[in-house]
Amino acid sequence: MPRRHRRAPEEEARPLSPGVRGLAAPAWAVVDGATVRMVAGGDKPYLCPGCLHEIRPRVAHLVVVEDDDVEGRRHWHTECWRRELRRRFGRGPAPG
Ligand SMILES: [Zn+2]
Repeated sequence: MPRRHRRAPEEEARPLSPGVRGLAAPAWAVVDGATVRMVAGGDKPYLCPGCLHEIRPRVAHLVVVEDDDVEGRRHWHTECWRRELRRRFGRGPAPG
């Protein structure tokens, strides 16, 4: 009788930093081409690429992983991401 090898369950998603809980991102923050999650904030500060200022520990913010840069997880202030989306998909006059 053949034995079944039991494989340890593999974790698909890498866990966020300890103490950082993933929350559902607000609908407006979700975009094609990136994975957006909201986190409640961890123990260490992050640099927001939107404003180049620190996201302080324990401050809820967004974690964005672009599909074409899966290694490059970025932490954004919620408001900075909102502004970034407006910049990218702005409803202003279309260029050209
Ligand atoms: Zn910012």
